[in-house]
Formats: sequence, structure tokens, C-alpha cells
Amino acid sequence: MTLKLTDVVLTYPDGERTLTALNHVDLAVAPGEFTAVVGPSGSGKSSLLAVAATLIRPTSGTVSVAGTDVTDAGQAARTRIRRDHIGIIFQQSNLLPSLTALDQLLVMAHIAGTRPAAASARARELLGAVDLADKHGKLPHQLSGGERQRVNIARALMNEPEILLVDEPTSALDHRRGELIVALLATLTRKNNLATVMVTHDTSTLAMVDTVVTMTDGTLTSGGWSPTG
Ligand code: ADP
Ligand code: MG
Repeated sequence: MTLKLTDVVLTYPDGERTLTALNHVDLAVAPGEFTAVVGPSGSGKSSLLAVAATLIRPTSGTVSVAGTDVTDAGQAARTRIRRDHIGIIFQQSNLLPSLTALDQLLVMAHIAGTRPAAASARARELLGAVDLADKHGKLPHQLSGGERQRVNIARALMNEPEILLVDEPTSALDHRRGELIVALLATLTRKNNLATVMVTHDTSTLAMVDTVVTMTDGTLTSGGWSPTG
């Protein structure tokens, strides 16, 4: 398993008490597997992604990324793990306003210390893969919402992660553009053998994923949705 959460509990302080955001959660995602997480607002979906992304350390339980137990890894090690193994895509594209599409990707390679020539080739290839080959010189404000989200996806793949974590990628897009984004994520998951976890509200796209899990009040259950209803 490329991503494995075992018996994960996450609590947040909540006044005098604590709030349980993740309640003994198990999740395992294999290479090339596209998993969707559905569930009501406030049920713990983003908390799950934050723990998987090594952004938040769980209160108890273990997190394994690309075969390494990262539960007790320190700040520097976590940063390295994210840089080398995990691509993260949030709802808003959070691109840097003054950089072209190509430069958004090159920044990631620079952080990872990739040779400039290799980085440039990979960035152009990825922009091609998300169908933006002719837009590499555009600034974020010159791109549509769907195009910005595709730059975001390409950027997340720049350092060849094994894991892709995606939080509601279609919520800022209309239905058709949203479907295209999920289809693209499905294609990239297969082609790059990624372990992908996508939080979504949009049940119409679930036919494109391999596994659906449902979050309810911090508890994760398998299934919860079927194409026949
Ligand atoms: P979802 O993504 O499904 O909407 P979240 O993971 O964002 O759910 O939140 C789960 C629960 O944890 C909610 O009750 C939310 O209010 C609470 N929560 C989320 N982040 C924090 C935080 N940083 N501090 C305290 N409570 C939080
Ligand atoms: Mg959320």
C-alpha cells in the first residue's frame, strides 16, 4: 500500500472538551487506485487529507507513506516526505499570481533541486498532459477556472509523487468542467500509478473512481454509493 492510515484518531481542542474529527479511521490506497471520500460538511474529510498529507500529526494511530512509517517524523522529515512523495491539490488553485503556468511548475522543481533542463522538459510534458501545451506562458488571471485547476494538477505532479491528495477539486467549477477534471485525475492516476484520494461532494463523478468511502462524524466506512443508487 502506498498510503496507509491505521486506527487513526484525531482530536481538536474544543473549549473545555475535545472534538473527535477522526474516530479510529483505517484507509489503505494502492498504487493506481483512485479513492473518493464523500460525506457531509464537517464530517472530517479535510482532516483525513491533512493527516495523510503529514500536515497534521494524529492523536493516535499510524500513517505510512510510500512504505515508510511517518507517524513520528519531525518537521523537516515531513516537509521532505511531502516534497518527494505527495502531490496536494486544494479546492482553490492557489497559484502564484505573478508566475506563468510554466513557472508555477518550475518553482516546485527548484524546491526539489531538479536540474533545470530536466525540470523544463517535465513541466512542458505535464502541461501537455493536462491539455495546456499552448498556455504555458499565461498568468493565472489569463486562464479560466478549469485551466487554473489543471495547472494546479500539473504542478502537484511535478516532483513525481506516488500519492495525490485532492480536496474538492470541482467545487469552484461548473458541472461539465468538474467532470473533465475528475476524468483527468482518473487518467493521471492510472498512467502514473498514483495512490489518489479525492474528497468530493459531486456524486455524479463517482463512476470514474475505483473505491468510494464515506465519512460520517469522523468515522470512515467503505461504500455508501453505487451507480444504481
Ligand atoms: P469536512 O472537510 O468533512 O468538512 P473537517 O475535517 O474540515 O470536515 O472538520 C471536521 C471537524 O473538525 C469539524 O467539526 C470542524 O469544525 C473541526 N475542525 C476542523 N479543523 C479544525 C481545527 N483546526 N481546530 C478545531 N476544530 C477543527
Ligand atoms: Mg473539507
